[in-house]
Amino acid sequence: MNSSNSDVKNNKDVNLIWKECLVYIKEQIPPLTYLTWFTPIIPLELTDSTIKVQVPSEFFIDWIEEKYRSVIDNAITNILGQKYNLVYVVLHNPEKEDYENIIAATEPQTKIQIKLDKPLPKHDTHINIRYTFENFIKGEGNQLARAAAVAISDNPGQTSFNPFFIYAGVGLGKTHLIHAIGNNIIKKFPDKKVIYLPSDLFTVQFVEAIQANKVNDFSSFYKGMDVLIIDDIHDLIGKEKTQDLFFHVFNTLHQSGKQIVLSSDKPPKDLKGLNERLISRFQWGLSADMQPPDFETRIAILRNKCQSIGMSLSKEIIEYIAYNITSNIRELEGCLIKLLADSSFNSRDINLELARKTVNEVATKKNLQISIDTITKAVCNYFEIAETKLREKNRRKEIALARQIAMYLSKELTNSSLKAIGLNFGGRDHSTVIHAHNLINKLIEKDYTIKSTIEKIKSLI
Ligand code: ADP
Ligand code: MG
Repeated sequence: MNSSNSDVKNNKDVNLIWKECLVYIKEQIPPLTYLTWFTPIIPLELTDSTIKVQVPSEFFIDWIEEKYRSVIDNAITNILGQKYNLVYVVLHNPEKEDYENIIAATEPQTKIQIKLDKPLPKHDTHINIRYTFENFIKGEGNQLARAAAVAISDNPGQTSFNPFFIYAGVGLGKTHLIHAIGNNIIKKFPDKKVIYLPSDLFTVQFVEAIQANKVNDFSSFYKGMDVLIIDDIHDLIGKEKTQDLFFHVFNTLHQSGKQIVLSSDKPPKDLKGLNERLISRFQWGLSADMQPPDFETRIAILRNKCQSIGMSLSKEIIEYIAYNITSNIRELEGCLIKLLADSSFNSRDINLELARKTVNEVATKKNLQISIDTITKAVCNYFEIAETKLREKNRRKEIALARQIAMYLSKELTNSSLKAIGLNFGGRDHSTVIHAHNLINKLIEKDYTIKSTIEKIKSLI
């Protein structure tokens, strides 16, 4: 009774308290930094030990944790007199208002009323309203995939592109394009049940359903969709039971003319370790690949992105970036955001020199092309332990150290987000990764053996 009363009170106060924190934070950092990293944060909930905030992307979490966590902690301790945990929620799911705004922005006046009277999707679609066809830049490398995606969203389930299977390397726009399909269908056919989810979330939900004895509910939920969009289907490799269940969901949907959209890092035939019967079904519809963008497309993407984040860069700098970052659109964007961040963090102008430095940092990581998997293997090889140990809860000293080194190297040598790194080491959260990274950093400075251990492991990678 008592605690629920205080929860209600706390929830009411979270906005107020966050505002006070912001006043404090604003004094500690440059104005542009504040604008870039703090105005987009939305406070959600305050409990006895936790403040929950919403941020626009996982990149935000990484950046805030790395650069501003101590500023935030200080602010909170100052205002509330004690430390609180910070929990981030990434916005994936449109608020009603956002949805209305989007419709209002894209539809002629007369239609708005009609659309708004229709019910909004009742389940969580997981569709990110930011990924649309309008902001997906056309280029030679994505022409077919994009055209097919548009055709599907005009006529879900009714074209021969079923399933629609998109494959491409990382950062080339798979997730963006399949969300765009979802967004367009929701806009055109508000009554259709659309759902997006990454396949590892599908797996997690399935495992939870097994534990809760609700497999039937789980499978009938998905069998009831009109449009099922599953991202990174290659993540089902090795997950036999999930594959079996997905097979049945797939069949039911396909037989009743419902649209299935899948993305993967490889074409169906190369998905070694995936059940043959799934592979053959994936080939029933249309498989389309996406290639890295050419120079002109890279320029167009950079211009578009600059415009959307309100950043102005000279032609020279845009061309410099487009010339040097060639194989990954996420890196192109990452480079822009890093430039903006570096310039605001250090109160510096964005000039060619800063661009050069930023491109080099982004490009070095890229050229190494190292995966968390490779790092895990090298670390386990060195310490002579089984890879599974790094994913277990095991706190034995050597195992914990090996795990921390693996997290450290993953953060140093790959472009993976803290969240992705944590997930790869037994579902640990981003703060554990940050902690491991800081710890190893300190050890490297102090302890020569650790330093040489890390060097040896690097040479194994
Ligand atoms: P993938 O899922 O293939 O790894 P994403 O869809 O996450 O790649 O794309 C990475 C980033 O690049 C996203 O922010 C996305 O919006 C952007 N992006 C990818 N392709 C395009 C494009 N053709 N036009 C504009 N932005 C793009
Ligand atoms: Mg993706």
